[in-house]
Amino acid sequence: MSLPKKRKTESADGGGGEGSGGGEEEDGGEREPGGPEEARESEQGARDRLYYECYSDVSVHEEMIADRVRTDAYRLGILRNWASLRGKTVLDVGAGTGILSVFCAQAGARRVYAVEASDIWQQAREVVRLNGLEDRVHVLPGPVETVELPERVDAIVSEWMGYGLLHESMLASVLHARAKWLKEGGLLLPASAELFLAPINDRTLEWRLGFWGEVKQRYGVDMSCLEGFATRCLMGHSEIVVQGLTGEEVLARPQRFAQLQLDRDGLQQELQAGVGGRFSCRCYGSAPMHGFALWFQVTFPGGDGEKPLVLSTSPFHPETHWKQALLYLDEPLQVEQDTDISGEITLSPSRDNPRHLRVLLRYKVGDEEEKTKDFRMGD
Ligand code: SAH
Repeated sequence: MSLPKKRKTESADGGGGEGSGGGEEEDGGEREPGGPEEARESEQGARDRLYYECYSDVSVHEEMIADRVRTDAYRLGILRNWASLRGKTVLDVGAGTGILSVFCAQAGARRVYAVEASDIWQQAREVVRLNGLEDRVHVLPGPVETVELPERVDAIVSEWMGYGLLHESMLASVLHARAKWLKEGGLLLPASAELFLAPINDRTLEWRLGFWGEVKQRYGVDMSCLEGFATRCLMGHSEIVVQGLTGEEVLARPQRFAQLQLDRDGLQQELQAGVGGRFSCRCYGSAPMHGFALWFQVTFPGGDGEKPLVLSTSPFHPETHWKQALLYLDEPLQVEQDTDISGEITLSPSRDNPRHLRVLLRYKVGDEEEKTKDFRMGD
């Protein structure tokens, strides 16, 4: 099953990678054109181009807009803030097809700047025209880092979340825009994000591992010896697997290990250094544990007398296109009621492609020895 491109980033291998051209400038003198600094920048430029290209096709936008949990949450999160948006200016960071900008105009915003770096901005402009909002919604092509707005804005709206929250690293662009264009004390929609993790029994994986033991019953050939091979293939890798689970597959109380307040000073640096935290939980009952599920939620401020609105990607809630990000152990581990599971998790941008999510996991299950696994988002 191949995953849609959405929220995945194409790899642009300009060679180089980690360590290439590293090191300080020896004399702090002038940079030579075509030197390591330029090479690094053009490598990043090439990656950004590939990244924006992923968003120039219809499929990814169809997937996002068809995700009712996501799109309804943004619609309500915006409309419920009508009292703060009425007559105000808004910046939509990464407007895509323009739907969130239109929601903001419908909530009463006087002017919305819909900034979009991929070619999809042309469709956003058509959507704005079709809805008769050209005077209020201005579609501006280009990366938000370089686009010029005529004024600072009262609010920023953005749907920046990738798989495992931070894949794509788009939050960095939102924070850049916040520092540059948001008025002091301006509104952020959503305003915060939280990360969760829980040990899991993945029923699909359990079925696939057990499959080889069933072949004899079906065809009269014993293939049970392949279970170890299947385990190595399906679990003995370090890719983050994007897959939807249900609440029944969660083996202990979910742990919230990080909270990101989008208006927090220094958040950009925190993201660079890696966000995460410790966790500790106890299993509900007996099951083979396959690993951990990672998910997030974001919160829209309540607005005038309204309750805050939460967009959750938890396995206990209706599925979204983000599903959950699964981190498999190398092989299943049997857990029992009250087995202690603890450890520490850190999410950071991968060093060879900062748009790719890297997850470092240290964990201890019951009396087993502590282990560490270093995960990447697969292509
Ligand atoms: N707001 C739309 C699309 C969200 S997907 C919706 O909710 O349906 C994120 C979008 O942000 C993509 O279209 C991507 O091309 C754009 N994007 C990502 N980084 C950006 C940046 N730095 N500047 C401008 N657009 C960006």
